Amino acid sequence: MLYLGCHLSSSNGFAAMGETAVKLNANTFQFFLRNPRGGAAKEIKKADVEKYKKIAQENKFGKILAHAPYTLNPCSKDASIREFAKNVFADDLKRMENIPGNLYNFHPGSHVGQGIKIAIPQIVEILDTVMPEAKNTTVLLETMSGKGSEVGSKFEELAEIISQTKINSPEKLGVCLDTCHVYSAGYDIVNHLDEVLEEFDQIIGLNRLQAIHLNDSMTEYNSHKDRHECIGKGSLGEDAVIRFINHPALKGIPINLETPNELDGYAKEISLLREKYQE
Ligand code: FE
Ligand code: FE
Ligand code: ZN
Repeated sequence: MLYLGCHLSSSNGFAAMGETAVKLNANTFQFFLRNPRGGAAKEIKKADVEKYKKIAQENKFGKILAHAPYTLNPCSKDASIREFAKNVFADDLKRMENIPGNLYNFHPGSHVGQGIKIAIPQIVEILDTVMPEAKNTTVLLETMSGKGSEVGSKFEELAEIISQTKINSPEKLGVCLDTCHVYSAGYDIVNHLDEVLEEFDQIIGLNRLQAIHLNDSMTEYNSHKDRHECIGKGSLGEDAVIRFINHPALKGIPINLETPNELDGYAKEISLLREKYQE
């Protein structure tokens, strides 16, 4: 089963996102629970959620993916920024209980000069505080490109975070693999996809891989940049993306596009990928 969707605006609520997804021929989607810059969260209305659940059920949606605000930095040097991250994270996870059984993705953060040895325990500390809120949600760490001082561009860093947390069963804590980010981080999913997935399996475990961000990249392999490109227009290329979605180890994992598109562009990419997907 191909669970494929894209990032949608949450400004009109869950049912509206569900309806948009159906129009795009998507059966999952990604969204923000609040302004991506970290502002106040919108109220979640019961009737809206009920309406959404019906749409999701009728259209056999896979798990949907909430994305934490970009400003959430669990390993900032500044204690007040870490405190903000903890509060937003905990509040988001409480909100996720309105739509049980779904996924919440976050960036491990940027250590800005503190170094990885200080950053990892800070990320772990926040996770240990907030994870009890995730009663029916799986929290995912996103693979990062390694721009600046980003944590999480190496599988070992994600594995270390996971192993140090107290609540870390694969049902509770997993990974979201971003194709643009891993390629920029130096994992050659164009020429060595099998080997990269084997490495992922050995270091993190493929059972932790629970969501995919499918993006082409504007920058070259190992560039440590984070510039998403439309499918087929970047350094990964259409063939590599198609091989990726058809890889047997990745079947059934919800895939969301974060390509620079409006809805019509997403519809075209979804239709192309569905056409090239082999059941
Ligand atoms: Fe992200
Ligand atoms: Fe991403
Ligand atoms: Zn990105």
